[in-house]
Amino acid sequence: MLGSVLIANRGEIACRVARTAKRLGLRTIAVYSEADRGALHVRMCDEAHAIGPAPAAESYLVGARVIEVARKAGAECIHPGYGFLSENAEFAEACAAAGVVFVGPPPAAIRAMGLKDRAKALMEKAGVPVVPGYHGERQEPSFLREKAYEIGYPVLIKAVAGGGGKGMRRVDKHAEFEAALEGAQREAKASFGDARVLVEKYVGAPRHIEIQVFADGHGNAIHLNERDCSLQRRHQKVIEEAPAPEITPRLRARIGERCAEACRKIGYRGAGTFEFLYEEGEFYFIEMNTRVQVEHPVTELITGVDIVEEQIRVAAGERLKYRQKDIEIRGHAIECRINAEDPFSFAPSPGRITAYHPPGGPGIRVDSHIYQGYLVPPYYDSMLGKVIAYGDTRDQAIRRMRIALSEMVVEGIKTNIPLHQELLADNRVIRGGVSIHHLERALAQRALER
Ligand code: ADP
Repeated sequence: MLGSVLIANRGEIACRVARTAKRLGLRTIAVYSEADRGALHVRMCDEAHAIGPAPAAESYLVGARVIEVARKAGAECIHPGYGFLSENAEFAEACAAAGVVFVGPPPAAIRAMGLKDRAKALMEKAGVPVVPGYHGERQEPSFLREKAYEIGYPVLIKAVAGGGGKGMRRVDKHAEFEAALEGAQREAKASFGDARVLVEKYVGAPRHIEIQVFADGHGNAIHLNERDCSLQRRHQKVIEEAPAPEITPRLRARIGERCAEACRKIGYRGAGTFEFLYEEGEFYFIEMNTRVQVEHPVTELITGVDIVEEQIRVAAGERLKYRQKDIEIRGHAIECRINAEDPFSFAPSPGRITAYHPPGGPGIRVDSHIYQGYLVPPYYDSMLGKVIAYGDTRDQAIRRMRIALSEMVVEGIKTNIPLHQELLADNRVIRGGVSIHHLERALAQRALER
């Protein structure tokens, strides 16, 4: 087993990783930017090292500096959390070159999954259902336009190197294809330095359902069931839950086993998530995330697996502790992402937290890094943490979440707690199974009513 870990992240995920690492007996090493001198992850870890100025590009994203600290501090491994360096294949390679274990998949897997065309081609080969479309090499406008026609409108043009919705265009009419393609390519070139695109069928009103997988690099791969993350605003997840409403054991086993099999075929190692659009009983692969996800706690609560522990154990070269038959679903879990933002305009709301009281009681978990007196910096994403509610049934989890949100006190800044309360009072959300458009439609409706 490894003896020490450098956590190359900040905020709630740095604290989350530190908790499990400590329990496993690892020495924990934090890094921090100037803006995070007083951060909770710095206090929680056994030691902490400054890595530069506040902007992430000058601190948390500087792989060379992180590795230098790891070597000086004698860190045996680096856990990247999510975001920042977590899906950076060059960083994973640099770790290996420096003799530090990267807690994540092999660089080749990160690289393959980082490009949407390669990921789709690999998944298709491995028997995972993908969104129908063209993801080959050819890029001539007339050829792609022809393909769009064959696929049938509406279609979606996507940057193969894309992320965060950039370089993505929906096209409804054949006559509009070329202009949209130009726009997508321009944006893709500017954002990723790679103008290549793919074209796929636009799925009308899908849900976002994702499968958590785990592989150990010794030929064992399992799935840890699905999560439903359909409540999104501008492609950002707001509320997630597990298991997904209406997914039958048969459907779950079928798609889960396909994903696990794909992991074996591509030589995957570590935690990963296959993201799908789901409509009328069909799954369509859109992308794979090769890291721990923000919403991993809902899976932990229904399966009893500590995902970070498995990540560290597998990185140390150990075998998975679980077989597929050990993975059960007990109860239901739901997670609300608490952001420092105006619940109506969604403008970020950094500043000093003057009063804080977290919720508690049976079935409530809070993964957060905030405290009374904490100054929420303006430099990073606005997430303050997550409240996760667990219950024997979905209904009980939702009830507990409502009470938890009403107990929670965060003063001095604005938060999106009122938005969560509104959503958990929405009959469609309570019933379950809403599409990825539900939240934005509800917000548009709210704007009309105000
Ligand atoms: P990015 O990596 O840029 O975030 P994704 O491929 O993950 O791009 O897609 C982002 C979001 O766009 C998805 O979560 C979904 O809401 C929507 N989307 C993606 N592909 C399709 C599709 N084929 N049809 C309809 N909506 C889609």
